[in-house]
Amino acid sequence: MSCVRIAPGALFSVSVMPKKNRKRKQVGAVYLVGAGPGDPQLMTIRGQRLLARADAVVIDRLVSRDVLGVCRSDVVIFDVGKAAGGQGASQGSINRLLIRLAKNGRRVVRLKGGDPLLFGRGAEEALALASACIPFEIVPGVTSALAAPAAAGIPLTHRAFASTVGILTGHEDPRKGGGLIQWTALVRGCDTLVCLMAVQTLPALTQRLIGSGRGADTPAAVIERGTWPAQRTVTATLGDIAQKAQAAQIQPPAILVVGEVVRLREHLSWFEHRPLWGTRILVTRAAEKSNLLAECLQDLGAEVERLPAIELAPMPRAARFTQVVQRLPQTDWVCFTSPEGIAWLAYTLRLYRKDLRSLAGCHIAAIGIKTAESIEARGLHVDFVPKRFSQEGVLDDWPKGRRRGKRAMIFCAEQSRDVLADGLRERGLSVEKVPIYRTRVPASLPAAVKRVFERPMDYVTVTSASCVEHLYRSLAAAGLGRQFRALAFASIGPVTSETVRRHGGNVAVEARESTIEDLAATLAAKHAEAAQRTAPRESFESFSLAVREEGE
Ligand code: SAH
Repeated sequence: MSCVRIAPGALFSVSVMPKKNRKRKQVGAVYLVGAGPGDPQLMTIRGQRLLARADAVVIDRLVSRDVLGVCRSDVVIFDVGKAAGGQGASQGSINRLLIRLAKNGRRVVRLKGGDPLLFGRGAEEALALASACIPFEIVPGVTSALAAPAAAGIPLTHRAFASTVGILTGHEDPRKGGGLIQWTALVRGCDTLVCLMAVQTLPALTQRLIGSGRGADTPAAVIERGTWPAQRTVTATLGDIAQKAQAAQIQPPAILVVGEVVRLREHLSWFEHRPLWGTRILVTRAAEKSNLLAECLQDLGAEVERLPAIELAPMPRAARFTQVVQRLPQTDWVCFTSPEGIAWLAYTLRLYRKDLRSLAGCHIAAIGIKTAESIEARGLHVDFVPKRFSQEGVLDDWPKGRRRGKRAMIFCAEQSRDVLADGLRERGLSVEKVPIYRTRVPASLPAAVKRVFERPMDYVTVTSASCVEHLYRSLAAAGLGRQFRALAFASIGPVTSETVRRHGGNVAVEARESTIEDLAATLAAKHAEAAQRTAPRESFESFSLAVREEGE
């Protein structure tokens, strides 16, 4: 084969390709990217940027599918994952797939769990690419060997307990000779040992470590699904960890940590102490708006499931809008009742060959701070935001001064309530309510509802009355109508709560301020109250003091 070897990692070195190849399609590239240990936020920025530009993604089983959210809509995904001991694509066929895609000019991201080169056969893939003269790049990832102990509150080194760490695979059968691991040297030379792929071989592995000189009373921990919402940790001694892990039915992926540092977990475990740890919570907001709430809840420890119960759509083009635009210069106040309003107004104005300059000279009112922020982000000044973020709140705080004869326009969703329009009219203003977008039930909702409610759900967050209506109807259509009453709803405010109650639902939590952040915080506070957490926990301060004294 006439093949010029490419220096490792030499990307886009197409110029070194043999001449006959140069005439053909330009070769793409393969990026071996570490996706991190599970939590999608633990992927590197470089990895995310490459994913966002990829033509094709070849993905392993242990990689959370959530990381694919940044991909282009036309990306092609190849799932080559294999379950522990089960069937997946063979390594040879994965190598061939990567080479074929790149030869067809594709930018390929090969997503591997943790770090691509720490076990998991990343090196073999890189070698196959190198020998096929495919340009490639290696993007390191946060390995589970470091991340799972961190999430379990186990530092791998500590000045007082451990200065060296050994990372090994449990895949080599510890009972057989002939492997690469030098057990006695490992046990003597490394204070902390981290063993990957250890579940199946745990009894033999722990015996081997004891037989090689590590004390049976050495603290040990097994961490299953580190950094995932389902993370579990079992601690014991090296002598009985295998039996305890089996009793707890620990499943792969899991790692074993052995060493004095495991004792620190007693003081440093944090993952399981977050206020919403162990809860499963549904976010029903529109897909493009669900991130903030999902992230707030995840930060508080919840496992978040997304089920967009609402989607936004433009209004049909209406002749009336031409008149609306013509009346804007004589309008004193324009009011926005949702953060989306300004974007939809800009969108609609463009259809009529206009833009936001049409608002020149109008005072602007926003129903809440998020709405005000989205307006100000477009360079417009907001003149009025009420203290309470609701239509009633706008009426309560409406600026003093002459009202009679003033003109107001309210840009809102088609289904928006009339409270603000009616109230302003009562106060003497002449009001025009202009629906600028509408909400509808996503086509996928009835089918998705069944899947989501297969497992118990601790809370269902609802952030608008339409969300509640859509969910209620979809549950009924899926034959799960009764379930609505059994759910614990966490609602953004009184109007949404009222819709839940009208259908016989239970509002377990209502945000005090109608904001996403406050909804998440109130939910966490209420949950902690309900759960009445009892487990006392030694404070970190008292521990760090003790260590300092010891060190001095
Ligand atoms: N390259 C990966 C390891 C691949 S080998 C990395 O750097 O993490 C697969 C093994 O990694 C699993 O059998 C398990 O031992 C470990 N592993 C991967 N993700 C894990 C997680 N979230 N928690 C615990 N162990 C994990």
